[in-house]
Amino acid sequence: MSQHLINRLCIIGVGLIGGSLARALKKAGAVSEVVGAGRDVAHLEKAKELGVIDHLETDISQAVKGCDMVVLAVPLGAMQSVFERIAPVMTDDMIITDVGSAKGSVVKAAQLAFNTTPETLVPGHPIAGTEKSGVEASFAELYQNRRIILTPLETSSSDAVSKVRSMWQACGAEVVETSIEHHDEVLAATSHLPHMLAYSLVDTLAKMDEKKEIFDFAAGGFRDFTRIASSDPDMWHDICISNKDALVKMIKKFSDDLQLLSNAIENNDSEYLKETFERAKKARDEFCDM
Ligand code: NAP
Repeated sequence: MSQHLINRLCIIGVGLIGGSLARALKKAGAVSEVVGAGRDVAHLEKAKELGVIDHLETDISQAVKGCDMVVLAVPLGAMQSVFERIAPVMTDDMIITDVGSAKGSVVKAAQLAFNTTPETLVPGHPIAGTEKSGVEASFAELYQNRRIILTPLETSSSDAVSKVRSMWQACGAEVVETSIEHHDEVLAATSHLPHMLAYSLVDTLAKMDEKKEIFDFAAGGFRDFTRIASSDPDMWHDICISNKDALVKMIKKFSDDLQLLSNAIENNDSEYLKETFERAKKARDEFCDM
């Protein structure tokens, strides 16, 4: 009998997020063996060479066999096809979780693939990451002191939720629970909108005639503000489409406020400008002290 929290773990998608999870669990001695699954055997071989996984498999139905924990760490657009490969070989003691940046779309994808909502499905989302991708970018400390949001369903068994919670705690993370709707609205505001702003700002400048000069003159503030525009375009495409409703609502709200700011500048409305900047500075200073 294994003394580990997880006996056989399958990570589907051994990239930044999946690879970091495998590394952290191995480092904590919380897992006995790790199977890595993905499309490209060369990527999986690299993961094995780095010691991130112990076995590799490109056939997902084979990869999950005998696993007590299966983690989907693939792009959001690939979730449904992965669930479809798991469904025929799913067993009652196989806990399934994911790391997708939007939660409503993942649950919908699972329900379509399984024709039901599995009791052992516990959706999750680590609030951790970098703008890099791939297993080479993964590291064991990624989740240390970071938050993991779980969005258990009414059907989720308490044993499954507790095991997923323990898995993330073993990585040094703090686990919180919320509803799917709340998760998707909050993340639209705090993560998805800022990525849209960074992409959009850099793209606007990149399309201008004086592009070279503009970027030559860019200082640290521009670099800080736009770092996330270096994130993977495919991943962000999937996030936008998956969290469309909440994100469009936030973009609209932000556009309205930006228009008000523009009007205030045009009208030399110093009171409006100062009030806005002071409110924002206070909110950010408080947030940074948290
Ligand atoms: P990543 O580094 O690109 O890794 C994605 C992995 O998925 C790759 O190893 C890729 O390997 C595999 N993959 C892609 N399509 C697949 C498919 N159809 N079937 C099987 N495997 C597939 O991306 P990541 O940053 O780790 O992101 C993974 C997930 O984490 C996404 O759902 C994202 O929303 C979520 N997330 C990301 C961050 C972040 O900051 N990056 C933070 C929180 C959550 P192959 O190409 O070899 O198949």
